[in-house]
Amino acid sequence: MKKFFFVFACIAALFVAACNNAPAPIRLSPAPAGKPVAKPVAKPHDTISIAAVGDIMLGTAYPNKNTLPPDSAKNSFKAVLNELRNADVTFGNLEGTLLDKGSPARYKKNLAIAYFFKMPTAYVNVLKDAGFDVLSLANNHSGDFGEEGRISTAKTLDSAGINYGGLLSHPTAIFKQNGVTYGFCAFAPNASTLPILDLKNEAQVIGGLKRQVDIVIVSFHGGAEGVAYEHVPPGGESYLGQKRGDVRAFAHTAVDAGADVVFGNGPHVNRAMERYKGRLIAYSLGNFCTYKCVSVDGVCGLSSLLKVNLNKNGEFINGQIIALKQTHAGGLQRDSSNKVITRVRALTKADFPNPGLTIADDGKITVQGN
Ligand SMILES: [Zn+2]
Repeated sequence: MKKFFFVFACIAALFVAACNNAPAPIRLSPAPAGKPVAKPVAKPHDTISIAAVGDIMLGTAYPNKNTLPPDSAKNSFKAVLNELRNADVTFGNLEGTLLDKGSPARYKKNLAIAYFFKMPTAYVNVLKDAGFDVLSLANNHSGDFGEEGRISTAKTLDSAGINYGGLLSHPTAIFKQNGVTYGFCAFAPNASTLPILDLKNEAQVIGGLKRQVDIVIVSFHGGAEGVAYEHVPPGGESYLGQKRGDVRAFAHTAVDAGADVVFGNGPHVNRAMERYKGRLIAYSLGNFCTYKCVSVDGVCGLSSLLKVNLNKNGEFINGQIIALKQTHAGGLQRDSSNKVITRVRALTKADFPNPGLTIADDGKITVQGN
């Protein structure tokens, strides 16, 4: 059936082009104003689907192998494989390095409490198999093993054909999927990542991408961390003496500069959502799949997968929160009690009087008023 529509679309496109005496368009963009077209040209893929998740850390070999999963992480995503695989673009925040050898970054070794996340490079196959297309490396763990870790992570993702961005050495990614060109960039308050605090630079990076692609996806690792920080406060946030960004200003700047969807992560808890200028902002997707070394106590154990549908202009059509949970013993599981949905809905109501969207009991997200 899909094939039929595609063939039909191609014939229709050629017909329209011939009537207008203009070359057939290469990119799928809205028909230009001018001569009326009898009927909108049917396209093979009018809606763009994105699956987005928060922090991913599949186990760490540092300081020893006790914190690696016994199945080599192969079953990490089994609760949501279908949803991860069946989207045009699947995104997550890779909270750590892909590295087989190497020592922790010295600056971090001096901190009182520090975790160092080193996933075996072979784990990239688990990410690939689950359908991840693009990952953020703008976070506080991509530098755990210094430059060696960053280089190994980048090389490993390159060899698997997974796109990534957020490092100063590799800030953005541009990739094509099902006829649509995507741009991606990610920001954080951490060394060697695109700075979340520099809104002027942010707007330049995003604007630069927008000029080259159809859809811009932006991620940020920002805001304070933990159960006390579920709300999106007005103004800037600090945590452990570090400025973690003014996430409202950051996200609005992103959309103003051309972002079509903004996915936050970093607080380890889910936060509110907002539709701003027709674009969806999810302020934090929380922990997604974090083996052992990340706390899953209380609301930190609530996990989610966010499905988003956009039109070809990048405007939000609708979405779905898939409710998940994590325990250290059981890993990532579906949550039939839908706790994370109830939470995100309450937070959205509390933090954004006019969020521009509605979240139903079953996690369906629709445009407010529709
Ligand atoms: Zn983090």
